[in-house]
Amino acid sequence: MAKRVYLFNEGGKDDRELLGGKGANLCEMTTLGLPVPFGFIITTPTCREFFEAGNQLPSLLEQEYRVALDLVEKKMGARFGDPENPLLFSVRSGASVSMPGMMNTILNLGLNDEIAEGLAKKTDNARFAYDSYRRFIQMFADVVLGVDGKLFEHEIEKYKAAHNKVLDVDMTAEDWQSIIVIYKTLANFPQDPFVQLKLAVEAVFLSWYTPRANVYREMNNIPDTLGTAVSVQAMVFGNFGDDSGSGVAFTRNPSTGEHAFFGEYLFNAAGEDVVAGTRTPLPVEALNERMPEVYKELYATQALLEKHYRDMQDMEFTVQQGKFYMLQTRSGKRTGRASIKIAVDMVNEGLITESEALMRVSPEHVEAFLHPMVDPAAKTSIVANGLPASPGGATGSVVFSAEEAVEVARDGTAVVLVRRETTPEDIHGMKVAEGILTELGGMTSHAAVVARGMGVCAITGCGSLTINYQQGTAVTAEGVVIKRGDIITLDGTAGEVMLGDIPKTEASSSDDFQILLSWADKHRKLKVRANAETPEDAAKARELGAEGIGLCRTEHMFFAADRIDKMRGMILSETKEERLKYLDMLFEFQRDDILELFKVMDGLPVTVRLLDPPLHEFLPHTPEEMSALAKRIGKPVETIKAMTENLHEVNPMLGFRGCRLSVVYPEITEMQVRAIISAAVDATEQGYRPFPEIMIPLVVNVREIRMLNEIIDKGIQEVLKEKAISIPYKVGTMMETPRACLGADRLAGEVEFMSFGTNDLTQMTYGFSRDDVGKFLPQYLDKKLVESDPFVSLDQRAVGKLMEMAVTESRGRKKGIKYGICGEHGGDPRSIQFCHDLGLDYVSCSPFRVPVARIAAAQANVGGALSD
Ligand code: ADP
Ligand code: MG
Ligand code: MG
Repeated sequence: MAKRVYLFNEGGKDDRELLGGKGANLCEMTTLGLPVPFGFIITTPTCREFFEAGNQLPSLLEQEYRVALDLVEKKMGARFGDPENPLLFSVRSGASVSMPGMMNTILNLGLNDEIAEGLAKKTDNARFAYDSYRRFIQMFADVVLGVDGKLFEHEIEKYKAAHNKVLDVDMTAEDWQSIIVIYKTLANFPQDPFVQLKLAVEAVFLSWYTPRANVYREMNNIPDTLGTAVSVQAMVFGNFGDDSGSGVAFTRNPSTGEHAFFGEYLFNAAGEDVVAGTRTPLPVEALNERMPEVYKELYATQALLEKHYRDMQDMEFTVQQGKFYMLQTRSGKRTGRASIKIAVDMVNEGLITESEALMRVSPEHVEAFLHPMVDPAAKTSIVANGLPASPGGATGSVVFSAEEAVEVARDGTAVVLVRRETTPEDIHGMKVAEGILTELGGMTSHAAVVARGMGVCAITGCGSLTINYQQGTAVTAEGVVIKRGDIITLDGTAGEVMLGDIPKTEASSSDDFQILLSWADKHRKLKVRANAETPEDAAKARELGAEGIGLCRTEHMFFAADRIDKMRGMILSETKEERLKYLDMLFEFQRDDILELFKVMDGLPVTVRLLDPPLHEFLPHTPEEMSALAKRIGKPVETIKAMTENLHEVNPMLGFRGCRLSVVYPEITEMQVRAIISAAVDATEQGYRPFPEIMIPLVVNVREIRMLNEIIDKGIQEVLKEKAISIPYKVGTMMETPRACLGADRLAGEVEFMSFGTNDLTQMTYGFSRDDVGKFLPQYLDKKLVESDPFVSLDQRAVGKLMEMAVTESRGRKKGIKYGICGEHGGDPRSIQFCHDLGLDYVSCSPFRVPVARIAAAQANVGGALSD
């Protein structure tokens, strides 16, 4: 029988899986000799046992933890359930991956009427004893008995109003006793401490499936099967008096990454008051002024922990009657900016290696780093100030609840979520918000921590706002009324609130970021290209580090106003001569556009895909548009109507597109090939080094390729002969039908590269129309019929299997084929990992994803090596 219960001196930081992150670190700190209140941990496998047995604790568990409990009592010199000398516990959740605040914790467990009285006597602090007792009833009722916590808050408000009290500090022992009497009418609360403990352990296990925890796991790709451990720890009391208090601190600044100790502290407060963000704390330096010895110990502890863990730590601590206690340490959540700065600094400090630094930044962080900031020059008058909890600029329509946020954001409207504080229950609203603004809470409140982790701009502790949920208003100190639906802008970097939509500057770069990217380039095998058609996009891509263009969609080059009529004329031509006339005009545009791309991508490959889309996409749809076009291209409107109808397809995604167009109208392909190669000749003559790659779309068999190769070769040779020049070029195919993948061994002989078009490949493997999935895919995700959206993250099992097969079988047939991917997945980190493992040569993604892809490609390469 596996051991289910571990004392704090029986584990260490590598036991995350077994003991949860919090438990493992409590053990580690105990072993390091830090002042951690003693306790024991019930393992995560026990949580799984609990669920498998239909939410039943294993029958022997209570016996097992009672043995541990006895040892904790000995160590602490107090006894659980003893009114004379009571020991109280905190019962804390903690999974192997950090999910801050997503599950439940119960504090002050072990109090009842008699023990509260005993505690009052023993400590000679009745106010503290009854405050603790009422906190416990409230938490226990909320978490274990399912009585809404707001009911209790409401009773306190009512009581305070009736007795002329404003703050908690105005409440006396007698006041809290009266509150307790009221509380007990609201909840059927068990007096037996051992019953309390058992129920609390069950409740912590069950909190694995609270809605907020579910959402958090989904957002962070954390498997449902992990489960949580339970840490049962002796209580220490920050609410004992003015010589007590609680705080949260970071070894470095979690917003900026600056190497400076940073923390917040509340005098005479339990730790939950800091984390919940219901009071706005003081900077931790306040502790230095009032209790320098304690501050010194805290400072030494943080330095020790950072060195020991070799990462920025986020710590929770409590001071009871001048004595310092550590309650938690973990790797701190941080903004993208901070994660990059800290990683680079730590390499320079000799704390970690380049490879480790690369693994310390998440692709999401890199992306957040690239987010816009409020333009300093465009700032208008600031209507309120708060704490700069999570940087960046955000503009949106004001909403006052998470539900409203989800509702309003559904159609793509940007929202700013305005709350007094955010609780972890608001996670679904925070997820869709552009920005988050709270009246209460500090830099370490849950709102701040979660927003930073998500890369969402946030301001907390904006105390000058008065928020009224019923009326849907937030009133500033000057009396400016912000109403539901008003547009406001947040500057999360400065903590400033402004009215209206304030312009933002494009995301900036930093030296640290460039250094990190240079390490990424050094440590990756995959090349990163961009999908781009315009010279502007191509230039942006190159600036962001793209090593060529992996997909230029030529049809996008014909949508511009001066081209579309020629394209339409070409499609609506009734004879070959007529078509050739239009193709000649299109040739000029095509060549000039591609020439620009070659210039921007000087010395790098540019993959130009032959025309792909269903032709009818180009044609007018309304009668007015048709008659207008008829006039412009000199054709009877009836002809246009008839031909449009003729081109209409029942299932255009599976219709007349891709290389099928070339089969029916070879002259289109001839024109495109001449344009591409002529552009390459022009570029060469102007001193550039173009590397054209011609890509055939939507291939299903080798005969298509042979036929197209003939057309392409002829076109190329004609141009080159005429100019008496030679140009390096490649011809290859997209791999985007299952049949192409299944027959890759046969295609191999005819191509120089294969590029997986995973959008179409996913569509055809699933038989899910890309254009129609919106109607049912959300349900598939909700009901867990698919793990994730296969159009976002590559379906490795089936689509990946087709890719793998194609690579292995074609590689065996011909050496030197280059493999790439150019679907949306080319910018998705998980998919990039897969492409790396498959041994592809490059990924191609949208220009703004290029830095993300560079980092992800390096992580794919060094991640495996580090964990070996
Ligand atoms: P979370 O995972 O949400 O941070 P914790 O288990 O850390 O939850 O508990 C929340 C807060 O409860 C902590 O920040 C700490 O201040 C307080 N707390 C937990 N254990 C103890 C303890 N043994 N003594 C005093 N306070 C505690
Ligand atoms: Mg905590
Ligand atoms: Mg395609």
